[in-house]
Amino acid sequence: MRPEALNPLFAEVQTLEGVGPKLLKPLERLGLARVKDVAYHLPERFVSRRAIADLDDGNEGEQVIVALTPVEHRSPRAGSRGPYRVLAQDSAGNICALTWFGKAAYTAKKLLPVGERRWIAGRLDRYGDMLQIVHPDHIEVESAANMGRLSEPVYGLSEGLTQPRIADFAAQALARLPELPEWIEPGQLERAGWPTWRDALRLAHESTDEKARDRLAYDELLANSLALLLVKAEGRRKRGQALVGDGSLRAKLQLPFALTGAQKRSIAEIEGDMTQEAPMLRLLQGDVGAGKTVVALEAMLIAVEAGKQAALLAPTEILARQHFETLRKMAAPTGAEIALLTGRAKGRERESILMGLLDGSIDILVGTHAIFQDTVSYRDLALVVIDEQHRFGVAQRLALAGKGRRAPHTLAMTATPIPRSLTLAQYGEMDVSRLDELPPGRQAIDTRVIPQERMDEVVEGLARHLAGGQQAYWVCPMVRDSEVADIAAAEARYAALKERFGDDVVLVHGQLRPEIKDANMERFASGQAKLLVATTVIEVGVDVPAATLMVIEQAERFGLAQLHQLRGRVGRGAEKSVCLLLRGGELSETGRARLALMRETQDGFRIAEEDLELRGGGELLGTRQSGEAAFNVASLDQVQRLLPAAHADARLLMERDGGLTSERGEAARLLLYLFERDWGVQLLRGG
Ligand code: ADP
Ligand code: MG
Repeated sequence: MRPEALNPLFAEVQTLEGVGPKLLKPLERLGLARVKDVAYHLPERFVSRRAIADLDDGNEGEQVIVALTPVEHRSPRAGSRGPYRVLAQDSAGNICALTWFGKAAYTAKKLLPVGERRWIAGRLDRYGDMLQIVHPDHIEVESAANMGRLSEPVYGLSEGLTQPRIADFAAQALARLPELPEWIEPGQLERAGWPTWRDALRLAHESTDEKARDRLAYDELLANSLALLLVKAEGRRKRGQALVGDGSLRAKLQLPFALTGAQKRSIAEIEGDMTQEAPMLRLLQGDVGAGKTVVALEAMLIAVEAGKQAALLAPTEILARQHFETLRKMAAPTGAEIALLTGRAKGRERESILMGLLDGSIDILVGTHAIFQDTVSYRDLALVVIDEQHRFGVAQRLALAGKGRRAPHTLAMTATPIPRSLTLAQYGEMDVSRLDELPPGRQAIDTRVIPQERMDEVVEGLARHLAGGQQAYWVCPMVRDSEVADIAAAEARYAALKERFGDDVVLVHGQLRPEIKDANMERFASGQAKLLVATTVIEVGVDVPAATLMVIEQAERFGLAQLHQLRGRVGRGAEKSVCLLLRGGELSETGRARLALMRETQDGFRIAEEDLELRGGGELLGTRQSGEAAFNVASLDQVQRLLPAAHADARLLMERDGGLTSERGEAARLLLYLFERDWGVQLLRGG
């Protein structure tokens, strides 16, 4: 049971004034379900705006406040997915387009009647030879003096939300913060000169106060370390099953290739762990294409040989299906029974899978998180494999998987090479196997950096590539931190490419209905469609060896780890592969160096280490988009600076008060709940 003191924070967002049913979806997309999520939705940055008399005064890229009078509304042509534009005029007669993508056009219609002057705040940009402001932050009837501060927070948004709205919700959430007892070790608090938790949150919404932000980050790191230590302590208490396979099934595998040395070594390490009674807790790190799947299969066959069951958890429906197909083919000669369970299995089909799991006729289950629902029971689950585990939060899964009397062995797999200095933060104290050797015969991917202006040539090159019978990916740009705009960009690019290449093109992005997304993926995977246009949803795992060209727009906006993963989609077959990184106009020194590094090496571990160096501080440790986020509050720089202290703090607390029953222990429980590491607390209760 959650401590009562936290109830105001865990109240649903609907309890904030002004949050009606219409805003639930947009808030949900930002991960804001509860009041505390809103309080922790910290400004991404602060902007200073300048009030300008007319547009001639403003500079491109500048945040301005200007009075404009709408003269014309332009809807997109019927059926087209173009933006909604309102043309507006300043006092000097200059015209500026106010532009909206998607459903946000509704706002424009209401707030910008033709002929009535309004004060507009936003970023002045150029579109062709017209000035424009995309999704203005404020539209007011009153003069600029009443538009609030000239410096204001900028929050991450999703479609349907505006800056003033979210700022209002944040203010309401902050007003509800309870006073909580201190969980940070007093000496640490004093040395660092940090504010209390409540003050820190309030300060972080008002300014870039470093102490406040550090404190909040430390809280998160402390919660994470504590939870991992609790899981570890629990693991030591709980017995697993020692599994010894007789090799009979593995001997029947007819792999079309010989295992690499790294694969053999990893399998031996896993097999060694599984023969122990203590549950295995192992991470298999291996670059995209390093061959993790077959390692997972061997591990699962060991469990089956020992008369037990194994489950493989994938982060997405697409990946679950792909794993299922691959494993079923590979394992066919062994006679092991493999089934697929996802959220979409219904009725009879689902019933029969559940029966099969219970009576043991299914040996291996592949699926999405549906395989861990309460209604799913196994006869004897002894091994859990978690693919692309960074999407889940490994410790949480471990805790879930450990629900039974006997803890299953766990193998987590990730293609995100993580710098050594961050492994502890992300994975706690797991054992690690590294697939640091690619299967033989892989060709280097020819990587080139090309200015975006040479788009025409790129499309011509693409045309030749497709005409030659090969397939290609086209990854669309990330726009201004907004998923809405990302999708708008992808749809616009798709429309343009479709005009040129017709039905050979399919589109995949996160907002498509799952059936459509799968059908499009399937058309591409089967070779019917030649070109896949996508946002970053193809990032993880998809395997289409015939695709040998990858185009990535505005490559400088992607994280290097993410570029590396994207690039790993090609170079999977025998053909020579090419990756074109299109870059926008002005690149910083670092931006240049980062893209140069991509050109220079394909070693994911090296890219991860050097990216960390290049990025230095400030940048978030993976955004939600890139899926590598382990922390919501702590930045990469903060993780590096603060983790050692937080980890030591957590250890000390566990040594003194492993049951978290002292006054500070009780406060630490609040912290665990606050950061939703309460599975840690639940482990405590179980014991
Ligand atoms: P990932 O580590 O990204 O999950 P996969 O397991 O999907 O990689 O393997 C990528 C491709 O390499 C697959 O087509 C797989 O069959 C092939 N492969 C795996 N191991 C070897 C090997 N030892 N020799 C040759 N090809 C291999
Ligand atoms: Mg894989």
